[in-house]
Amino acid sequence: MNDVLRKLGLEGPLMGTMTNRSAIRCHGENLEVFSPVEGRCMGKIVQASVEDFGRVAEMAADAFLEWRLVPAPKRGEVVRRIAQAVRSHKKDLAVLISMEMGKILPEAEGEVQEMIDIADFSVGLSRTLYGLTMHSERPGHRMYEQWHPLGPVGVITAFNFPLAVWSWNAMVAMAAGDTVIWKPSSKTPLTALAISTIAGRVLEEESLPEGILNVVIGGRSTVGEQLAADRRLPLISATGSVGMGRHVGRTVASRLGRALLELGGNNGVIVTPSADLDLTIRAILFGAVGTAGQRCTTIRRVIVHRRIFPRFRDLLMDAYRQVVIGHPLDEGVLMGPLVDVDAVGKMRRALAVLEQQGGRILYGGQVLRGGIYDAGTYVTPCICEAEHDTPIVLEETFAPILYLICYESLEEAIHFHNAVPQGLSSAIFTNDLRESELFLSHRGSDCGIANVNVGTSGAEIGGAFGGEKDTGGGREAGSDAWKWYMRRQTTTINWSGELPLAQGIRFGDR
Ligand code: NAD
Repeated sequence: MNDVLRKLGLEGPLMGTMTNRSAIRCHGENLEVFSPVEGRCMGKIVQASVEDFGRVAEMAADAFLEWRLVPAPKRGEVVRRIAQAVRSHKKDLAVLISMEMGKILPEAEGEVQEMIDIADFSVGLSRTLYGLTMHSERPGHRMYEQWHPLGPVGVITAFNFPLAVWSWNAMVAMAAGDTVIWKPSSKTPLTALAISTIAGRVLEEESLPEGILNVVIGGRSTVGEQLAADRRLPLISATGSVGMGRHVGRTVASRLGRALLELGGNNGVIVTPSADLDLTIRAILFGAVGTAGQRCTTIRRVIVHRRIFPRFRDLLMDAYRQVVIGHPLDEGVLMGPLVDVDAVGKMRRALAVLEQQGGRILYGGQVLRGGIYDAGTYVTPCICEAEHDTPIVLEETFAPILYLICYESLEEAIHFHNAVPQGLSSAIFTNDLRESELFLSHRGSDCGIANVNVGTSGAEIGGAFGGEKDTGGGREAGSDAWKWYMRRQTTTINWSGELPLAQGIRFGDR
């Protein structure tokens, strides 16, 4: 591990603030970063104070004035070079993510790949920031809309995708001509410093001004609150729990800023009698157990037709028994630790509440002990049986707990599916065209993502990512999500030499 930290420039006492590649002296409290894998300290960081944040915000605002003038395709070229640099550090970054957050190495490599993909996407985007043209109702007039860079963008990220979520924002924002101030989760600050060093080196080689990509590590009440309240940041993109989103959303709204909220999910899948059960079980296993149940898109509820319920349950329990739990860097391991012992406590409490509320644990849910497990962060993934409206089932417990719920008719299944406050990702497993079309229709899933015969997790960057209801309504990554990061300007040019008014109004004509 020390070798990886050295290669990524993470040795010695670290400063919690970087602009491009330069560390800035910080004056906040010290932060020790513990790995959930073996419970050891991986690094020490001096966090930013309120004043440190203020200095960085000023630098980001100044840098924006220059960066916005660089032609968009040239900005794309810088993003392309960042993607190249990430490719050459892929393995080291993945190992760091695994050790800092706990996800298994293939998933961590997938996360780095996601950054490369969104950077490549943003390179193309830098040449396709298209606006519409309209036909004016006035003769000799031309109307069109154009998209301008927006300003410095504040990005708040959760621990579970310590690299990908920032990159969905930062690579698109860079192509759009914005600068970025990133507040990563205090559980995964090392990944943030590592990628900032890699990307910052490219900015330095391109002789770009400091302040384009910035990271500020600090507490919620210091950096987090400042970022949300700062009027210099026209857009705050915040990824995390619903509680955080409510708080940040209110702060941003009170200054009439733009808030892109990517919050918690409570993702359900419907399994109908026509489903290919082999494919379904494999998809649900990955969706529920992958990243130890700590994805916003993790499958948390499976709504299964009564006729196939017993067979489905037995097959799924068999599949869960095969899951190898252990060191996330070891081959063959499918599930690593939860992010910390707090997360384990929350999982145990949710299971106790479930039993009080009449639910039943069918498999798993134990805290493992002995050897590496003594870190206290390893659990067995859990399958439970519950009613669709059991109160704890309506909440997102960020842990590998899967609720099985029984249904009689597809209308009832869709009702059960939609009857939670969150609306991120959803899926139906069926081979019946009518069932899948109903699920995808406006009478079907109410989520931002709806899939057929594919689990709820593992989204590709090409599609806009996000959800409805308590999930916050934001959209990141592909499709036209870039529009959040730019300001739209509608333009009318009069080349007629006359002054006809819109709506045929005549005003002061002689
Ligand atoms: P969290 O809400 O505890 O923290 C997320 C981030 O918000 C952290 O950087 C944290 O420091 C910051 N934060 C918290 N309170 C804040 C405040 N008052 N002001 C400013 N910043 C504040 O979430 P977490 O435990 O890190 O991550 C898990 C949650 O994130 C889950 O609910 C998960 O579903 C969600 N998530 C959503 C998406 C998505 O795209 N929808 C993606 C990943 C994770």
